[in-house]
Amino acid sequence: MPYSIFGNKFTQHSGITELMDDLNEGVKGGDEILMLGGGNPAAIPEVQERLNELMQQLLDEGKLLDTLANYDGPQGKNTFINALVELFNDLYGWDLSAQNIMLTNGSQNAFFYLFNLLGGNFSGDKNKKVLFPLAPEYIGYADASVSEEAFVAVRPKITELDNGLFKYHVDFDALKIDDDIGAICVSRPTNPTGNVLTDEEVKHLDQLARENNIPLIIDNAYGMPFPNIIFSEATPFWNNNTILCLSLSKFGLPGSRCGIVIANETIIKAMNNLSGIMALSPGGIGPEIALPLVKSKEIIELSNNVIRPFYLSKAEKAIALLQSKITSPKFKIHKAEGALFLWLWFKDLPISSNELYKKLKEQGLLIVSGHYFFPGLDQDWQHTQECIRLNYAQDDDVVERGVTILADTINELYSEN
Ligand code: PLP
Repeated sequence: MPYSIFGNKFTQHSGITELMDDLNEGVKGGDEILMLGGGNPAAIPEVQERLNELMQQLLDEGKLLDTLANYDGPQGKNTFINALVELFNDLYGWDLSAQNIMLTNGSQNAFFYLFNLLGGNFSGDKNKKVLFPLAPEYIGYADASVSEEAFVAVRPKITELDNGLFKYHVDFDALKIDDDIGAICVSRPTNPTGNVLTDEEVKHLDQLARENNIPLIIDNAYGMPFPNIIFSEATPFWNNNTILCLSLSKFGLPGSRCGIVIANETIIKAMNNLSGIMALSPGGIGPEIALPLVKSKEIIELSNNVIRPFYLSKAEKAIALLQSKITSPKFKIHKAEGALFLWLWFKDLPISSNELYKKLKEQGLLIVSGHYFFPGLDQDWQHTQECIRLNYAQDDDVVERGVTILADTINELYSEN
């Protein structure tokens, strides 16, 4: 059956769909598949216990049924929005009102709204793109536009550090913003690299965005104040020209599909309209479960005292393991400053990262090939074929078995070369 242009675009192969299919296979496959691919957060017992208590309370008080038996408005559950307003104003003095926040069905959903609102075809035959100033960037952005060629990205500056580490920086000299750019977007911490843009980089991007009269979108899915999976110094950032996106997913509720957008009233109003048409209203379960945690600010304590230390310790263990098993000087790890991933760079790898992905999958290990993470960038840069993303947040035993398979494969490839 012939599909529309829209249909064809959204039925072709996409990296994010492959990734989510792999993730689902892994979940179904149980112990046989080592899932170091997708972005599933870890099951942290202390967080899960608290969430269980909260869900039981909702059930006992009849609030679970209330939430399930009623639609919220297109902006999302008001009680949760009001609690978030208070939380952010208390923590950071941002002077928000309820007109500055809306909820979506996961932040993935918010990016689809935003990219199509700010990029794509404009009147007068004009086409605007969303600029990713620091490639590599999140795989989930890659196909989230109804327009073709909706994104443009800029290669990073690479700083090689001691101890087999490296770090990407924004190459401001290469960043050209003109009338063809509709918005700037960064994930901070960055998925896939674990990079955290410095405060100076964020201020500089903010300044460029304002000068060009376009918004700066900051994807804070792993950031502050929750789930706070950040291991370096970073100051939370928002102003009237910033669109800050958060999520309950990496706090431990990815199945609740709750994204949070903080922006000026005009953007929220536009998003509200999109939400009404595309979803009627965002789901209320996540907001209802998390409401007491936000009201009491317990969400901050759990993030700072449980979630952040949990991931930091996992990241350190995984780095030590990788570096003990792969000793080639051609192997580098991006400095782990946040998020759930390690970004591994195999310089002069004799096969592409996608071939490596297939080789590892045959052995029961799922990682994600790095080439997917360069939306908007020409792939004629060898570096795009030399990296993989690894989720370090799974059980220690799974990470250890996965890293062993990876190390054996890489060591063999390097020795053949
Ligand atoms: N942004 C980043 C950087 C992510 O890594 C993810 C998920 O992995 C998302 C957004 C989307 O998350 P969700 O739609 O679950 O809020």
